[in-house]
Amino acid sequence: MKTDTIAAIATALSDSGIGIIRVSGEEAISIAGKIYRNKKNEDVLSTYQSHTIHYGFIVEKNGNLIDEVMISVMKAPYSYTTEDTVEINCHGGALIMKKILMTVIEAGARLAEPGEFTKRAFLNGRIDLSRAEAVMDMIHAKNQFALKSSLKQLRGSVFDKIKEFREKILYEIAFIESALDDPEHISLDGYTEKLSDQVFYLRKELEKLLNSADDGKMLKEGIRTVIVGKPNVGKSSLLNLLVGQERAIVTDIAGTTRDTLEETINLGEFTLHIIDTAGIRSTEDVVEKIGVEKAKTISEDADLILYVMDSSIPLDENDVDIMRMIKDKKTIILLNKSDLHEVVDQASVAVLLSDACGKNVSLNEISDAEQNISLVKISAKENDGLDVLIDLIKKMFFHGQISYDDEICITSSRHKEALLEGLESMNQVQVSLENHMPEDFYSIDLMNAYASLGRIIGEEVEDDLVNEIFSKFCMGK
Ligand code: GDP
Repeated sequence: MKTDTIAAIATALSDSGIGIIRVSGEEAISIAGKIYRNKKNEDVLSTYQSHTIHYGFIVEKNGNLIDEVMISVMKAPYSYTTEDTVEINCHGGALIMKKILMTVIEAGARLAEPGEFTKRAFLNGRIDLSRAEAVMDMIHAKNQFALKSSLKQLRGSVFDKIKEFREKILYEIAFIESALDDPEHISLDGYTEKLSDQVFYLRKELEKLLNSADDGKMLKEGIRTVIVGKPNVGKSSLLNLLVGQERAIVTDIAGTTRDTLEETINLGEFTLHIIDTAGIRSTEDVVEKIGVEKAKTISEDADLILYVMDSSIPLDENDVDIMRMIKDKKTIILLNKSDLHEVVDQASVAVLLSDACGKNVSLNEISDAEQNISLVKISAKENDGLDVLIDLIKKMFFHGQISYDDEICITSSRHKEALLEGLESMNQVQVSLENHMPEDFYSIDLMNAYASLGRIIGEEVEDDLVNEIFSKFCMGK
């Protein structure tokens, strides 16, 4: 275990009210002590009690004053990393923070790698891997759902569930192994029925968790959405309107600038991740310009298609083409320009759809949110109908409610993979049971399931994976 002392700036490196430099490791207190002086210019940091905060100054080796600070001391094992930790709260200027960090490093600390504080918390056993990942998810949460679910994961919801499953599996493995070792005293008579019950329960629970993963991913990362439609129907206007509606809790997310290809729009509980906004924003026809094939590829990737129509002019052949391209996707048809005289109504869309699908599509089928294709009238110009659209998306994707209050929702693809493997092994146990295989067959697959689930909480993981996970963390976390 590495115990050298690490340091990093833990707050954003931009001018702000305060900045925090974090120091952790065996030497944290003595290193910070070298550069900290109290009001009377005394070297007293080592005399401070754990979990106290003090006023003072950071000074260079030659005695030059760098900043006026508040410094807090958290002694092992009661700190984030479980190591001695010192946090220097200084003025939040980029130059000041860098200068203090350099001074800490000159005094003997090493610059921390991204995520190294949390990695230490994990390696030192304070949190499991699912909780460590939740730390980063909380920081990157883009909507209320993501925030809530990562907080729950941080409080150990995923860990507790996985631990429960693993304990049950381990019990069965231990029972089989001891019975095989000591058949005189431990009988396996009637055991397969008991094991069957347990396997049934575990498979059901694993399936339940896996079912939450698709919604979870979509909620966390956003519903991948493509806006399609002919030129001048109001695609850009809709996009602008949605961007204007944004009830963001995080305002400064990388990659969400207006000119990128993708745009993330937070609508309170959920996020729309709009793909190919460059195509929409260009004045030419998106379908014409990039070709139907390309549009098709983009649409294939999408969870949701917003198909904008101009309800003030008749539909034409191009609409049939677009409709054919997207008819199998979850689609919301937006009859835009509802403020103008209506030429296209629900009935004309039903005719178009019937044309594209080659079968009769009734009006009901496009007015029901449970269906793949729904319709809503809006006016992007007058900002009318947007609430209906947002409600419709909620109905289509989350059955009207986004509430995972009591349920655990799997939001990580790493966890999903491990759960799938775990389920696969449990299915194998089921097959062995059905075929009345010898008991050691069960225990091999049970052990595989135990190992797969262990990966979620960071047991049975390779160093490489741990390094990869933490390398995606922010500096100073
Ligand atoms: P795009 O080519 O599909 O991106 O369409 P635009 O968003 O650029 O809109 C084309 C024209 O339609 C612009 O002049 C818009 O102001 C106008 N427009 C968009 N939405 C509405 C609407 O709801 N009502 C009316 N009356 N005009 C609209």
